[in-house]
Amino acid sequence: MRKIAIIGAGQAGLYLGIGLLDAGYTVTLVSDRTPEAIRYGQPMGTPILFPNALQLERNLGLNFWDREFPDSIRFRSEVSDPEGNTVLSISSDLQLHWQAIDQRLKFPAWMQEFVRRGGELVIQATTTEDLEKYAQNYDLVVVTAGRSAFSTLFDRDIQKSPDRGPKRHIAAFVTTGLKGDLEDLHTARMTVLPGVGEIIQYPFYANGQVSTLLGLEACIGSFLDRFSSSRSPQELLKIGKKAIEHLKPDYYEAIANLKLVDDRAWLLGAITPTARHPVGNLPSGAAVMGVGDVVLVHDPIAGQGANNATKMADLVKRRIIERGDRPFKTSWMQQVFDEFWRDVRYSRALTDCLLTPPEHLQDLMVGMAQNPEILADYTQGLNHPPSLASWFFEPEAAKNYLARKNAIPSIHWEPPLAA
Ligand SMILES: Cc1cc2nc3c(=O)[nH]c(=O)nc-3n(C[C@H](O)[C@H](O)[C@H](O)COP(=O)(O)OP(=O)(O)OC[C@H]3O[C@@H](n4cnc5c(N)ncnc54)[C@H](O)[C@@H]3O)c2cc1C
Repeated sequence: MRKIAIIGAGQAGLYLGIGLLDAGYTVTLVSDRTPEAIRYGQPMGTPILFPNALQLERNLGLNFWDREFPDSIRFRSEVSDPEGNTVLSISSDLQLHWQAIDQRLKFPAWMQEFVRRGGELVIQATTTEDLEKYAQNYDLVVVTAGRSAFSTLFDRDIQKSPDRGPKRHIAAFVTTGLKGDLEDLHTARMTVLPGVGEIIQYPFYANGQVSTLLGLEACIGSFLDRFSSSRSPQELLKIGKKAIEHLKPDYYEAIANLKLVDDRAWLLGAITPTARHPVGNLPSGAAVMGVGDVVLVHDPIAGQGANNATKMADLVKRRIIERGDRPFKTSWMQQVFDEFWRDVRYSRALTDCLLTPPEHLQDLMVGMAQNPEILADYTQGLNHPPSLASWFFEPEAAKNYLARKNAIPSIHWEPPLAA
């Protein structure tokens, strides 16, 4: 059977590796970190997965936490004015739940599962020279090493990456101690502070307990953007809570007692949305293929990165299998990426809309508050962004859609979302 090497044991690499093993391939998966180092380290991301990506995981039998962890069962979003008053609130039950598992729990468990299903796991911080060796000995090398790896191997695609820098500074905390009833604890919530940033909160499974992910997306230079001076994770969380107390006093009570689940349960970052060329040409002339964050990275505001890493890994798996015994040429790699781009560009557009809201987003949010069907279409859009194509992105299309749904954009607030 054909031999595939995968570099990077994260969301994309593990999904792809286990999927290919199940299809009878010989797979070597290379991780720069041992399962223990991942388990006891800092998270690199804190993703929530939506139903389509979760279903892909379930199809491979990787949903180990389904029974232990009650998911996000409700979505709620509100817009706040500069005084901290809620000017618009939307919420609905989620017919298909969302789920966020600590990658520090998930990846070591999936690594173990990969070995149990017959894969070879190698611990090695892979270099370009190592890639050359893998390229000589395997039919295909797939690089899934995440957002900060191999950036010189996969050139930035300037046309697909107009952003010159990040739009948000991000802080994320895995915590316990959220105050609220059972429904609050299982609600995925986004509070929009126009021109300042977003407060994001969702149930999170970490350390064998139901926790809360608190994420802060701070517009650069805004009042919320105040993490650079902190000296410890605890201080960082304290700064985040103080900012919330100032910006949204009625939210503060719920999060006042949050504590980190452990000293490493936090991260700080800033992501410049970037698309890279999917083919990495090695000095010898051999080529490797990039999948996941290594070639497509999103700000996490719309929760798209790990969902897309899973979907892209799934597409690549299916196309590898279809390829049979034919060689994995660079034209094939490009074709598979182009096929994925046709859908993922909507994911990018959705993320851009939330980072830099267009004027008509305000009307759409008012529509969501008036008509549950519109909110259901939006949550389906988070799950499957191409479904937003016909109504969400362009002002005229949004206006026609709202008219069809009998929604009247009657409320306007200051400053507008587009502030
Ligand atoms: C704060 C934050 C919140 C997020 N929230 C969401 C969300 O709500 N929803 C969502 O879908 N996404 C979210 N994301 C994004 C998500 O975490 C990533 O998109 C996803 O994990 C990418 O998967 P990947 O497999 O490409 O990379 P990763 O999961 O990062 O895996 C890459 C792996 O490769 C390993 N590696 C790196 N270099 C090497 C090397 N040289 N050799 C061998 N191994 C190597 C790394 O150790 C790592 O384990 C969030 C990200 C952040 C930062």
